Parts: sequence; structure tokens; C-alpha cells
Amino acid sequence: MAKLLDKQRFKCALGAMQTVQAIERALPVLHSGPGCAQKLSESTGSSGYFSPNIFPCTSINEKDVVFGGVKKLNSTIENALKVIDADLYVVLTGCIPEIVGDDSGEVVSRFADYDKPVIYAPTAGFKGNNYKGHEQVVDAIVEQYLKKSDKKQKGLVNIWADVPYQDLFWLGNLRELEKLVKELGLTPNTIFGYKRGIEQINKIPEAEFNLLVSPWVGLSNMKKMERKLGIPYLHYPTLPIGATETSKFLRAVGEFAGVDNDKIEAVIKEHEDYYYYLIERYADLFLENRVINKQFTVVADAQYSLGITKFLVNDLGLVPATQFITDDTPKPYRANISEEFKKLNYGIEAEVAFETDGFKIHENIKNHDYHGYPLVLGGYYEKEVTEKLKGNFLNISWPVQDRVVLDDSYVGYEGGIRLIEDIYTVAVSRFN
Ligand code: SF4
Repeated sequence: MAKLLDKQRFKCALGAMQTVQAIERALPVLHSGPGCAQKLSESTGSSGYFSPNIFPCTSINEKDVVFGGVKKLNSTIENALKVIDADLYVVLTGCIPEIVGDDSGEVVSRFADYDKPVIYAPTAGFKGNNYKGHEQVVDAIVEQYLKKSDKKQKGLVNIWADVPYQDLFWLGNLRELEKLVKELGLTPNTIFGYKRGIEQINKIPEAEFNLLVSPWVGLSNMKKMERKLGIPYLHYPTLPIGATETSKFLRAVGEFAGVDNDKIEAVIKEHEDYYYYLIERYADLFLENRVINKQFTVVADAQYSLGITKFLVNDLGLVPATQFITDDTPKPYRANISEEFKKLNYGIEAEVAFETDGFKIHENIKNHDYHGYPLVLGGYYEKEVTEKLKGNFLNISWPVQDRVVLDDSYVGYEGGIRLIEDIYTVAVSRFN
């Protein structure tokens, strides 16, 4: 029986147009109904050189459902190539063309000899959400554009993390991961954000390894690159937030890359010294305030739910109530992710629920005894329920309506400090 989903926290797979948009000078070409891009676009940082309002679209209608939309797709690509100056054109298919059976791959193959790459990714909404759509876009780049390279650049590491725009902090997080990897003496390569485009995509096959920082999104891409391009990968499932996890992250990456142990420890020491200096200065606020209770809940996708839970337990000594993962994580990944919630300091284990239904999440929060004011980090949907419980709320996951983030980040030592500032700013403002 069909289910009613209350407070959905993701978009359909065609939302991957944002993944394309995050690659500089890459253009999504939509083979979909006229309203899809409008429905999937956001006003948070998605304007610029290309924006959803100007993405070429076949705008297919009833006639195309009957006779097929391939002619329109052909002319839309042709005209996009003529009038829009991009480096990479990515055709994304929506529900209608896939239901009526348009062979979009065949149409795209007609442009193989054009001097700019044209590829396509099947992103019909009925196939999954935008986390899966993101993977489809990366897959398309690997399958249809990249070729294995015999030339390897020493120390070059491709870094992959979670989904641009769906993750509000995607830009800052990627830059911070780059900075950390660079401090180990390696050369990071990422394809999303400012000055990251076709040039960085072309470098992918020359990397010594892929580094995936995500509980599950992108894992299938890593396996594909290993098979097709011969690039080994390191899967680091936890977004490193704060000192404990970032030091572990640096050790794991350094060891995988064969970096000298003394060098790794020197980098860690420098960061930890400053990090704990700051924590020490504010220890009385953390220990003696009466408004941040010991128990917390995170309601977010797997990346933030896991990363923030580890941070709040390991670095701040808080105790987890139930943690919610809302990204509709595919079932084969769930057991491993649940195991990660058991790897907390002091023998603490967190209970985790894979739940997409906001109603059930809110019922759980309302009925849990937090032994004081609850601390809830989640989507904007959690604001009202937390306020009714007189709790402390921080909007860290989609949907975000409570804050503007340009390039802020919660990753690394600095990111941990930023998150502490944000949480305790909420706490101290209760006294105003
Ligand atoms: S679910 Fe289908 S019709 Fe709806 S926005 Fe996504 S691609 Fe378009």
C-alpha cells in the first residue's frame, strides 16, 4: 500500500542537476517536464553563471508522451551547444522520458564527435532520491568521459564527500578536507566549487587513490573507478568534526598514503594544541551551564547524523538519545553505518533509526525523557517541536531556513570549533 511521507528531506534523483551545477562551467540539460527544474531548484546559493532558470530543457508535453521526445532532445542539445558556452554538458532525464522509453543515451552518442563533452545520466524521480542522482552523475562522468591513465601524479588524491547543495556546508567542507590532506604533504583534487571544473575532472585518472568521506554516498562510484580506471580507494565513513575524529582521519589517510608517521603526528599536535587551548578557556561554560543538557538528538542524513554524534560524544561528553538518519539509506549499507554509531569513546553506543517519516521522528523526540532541555540538531522541521519542549535547536540539515551559509564548514578542528560556537550561542541566547 502507498505510504504517506511526512516532511520529506530530499528531492528526486533529478535534483542531481545541483551536482552538475556545482562543477564550474558544467551545464545540466534537462530532458523532463517543464516544471521539474523549477520545483527542484533552491534560492540558497544556486544562482550564478548557470542557474536553474536558464538550464536548457526539452519541456516535454502530452504529444511527446505519445510520439516520444528524442527529436526534441536532439534539438535541445544541439541548440545548447550553439548558444551556451560550457565545458561539460550533462543530459539529465526525468520521469516522463524514462517512462515512455526515450533512448536518451543513443541521442547523446550522436554528439560524441563534438569538441565539448556531452554525457547523460538517468535521473528519473521514480528511481530514487537526489543522493542516488548524485551518484548517477559521477557514474556518468566515469563511464562516458574518463579514460584510464598510465600517468600517475605522486601524492595526488581525489577527494569525494557528500552531495553539493543538499549539504548546505558542501563548499566549506570540501575546502577544509583539501586543506587537511594538503597538510599531510599530499595534493588534493576535487571537482566541485570555485575553480573546480573540467580541468580537475581530467586529473581524476592520474590520482594515486580516491578518498571517500561519506557513510555511503559515492561508495558505488569508488568501486566503479577502481574497476574502470584502476584507482584504489580509501573509504572513511565519518565526516571528521572536531579533534578526536579529525586526528583519526589524518592518521587513516596518512597511513594509506604512506606518509611518514612523525609528519602526521606533528600536523595533529599543532592542531590539537590550539583546539584544546580553546576548549580549556571555555570549559566552565561547557561544564557549568544549565541549559545544554547532557542528552541530544541529531536528525539528518547519514553523514551529519554520524559525524555530529561522534563529535558530541567524543569531544563534548554529551550522551546520545536516538539518532535519526533521514536520507533513505539503501538497506545494504545500514548495518555498517549502525556499527559506526557503536564506535564511540567511553564504551558509549548510540541507538540509530533509519527513518524518513517526520511524524514518527517527532513522536519519538516528544516522548523521550532528555532529563532536561533537549538539544536537537536537525532540519528546520525540528524547530517547532524542539521549541515546544523548551529545548535548544540548531538547523544543520536540509531543509535549512534558519541560517545563511556561504562557505562555512563543520569539518576538521576548525569546523568542530564552529559547531561548538553555534550550539553554545543558541544556549547563551536563552538568557537574553
Ligand atoms: S519526480 Fe519526476 S516529474 Fe517530479 S520533479 Fe522529479 S523528475 Fe520531475
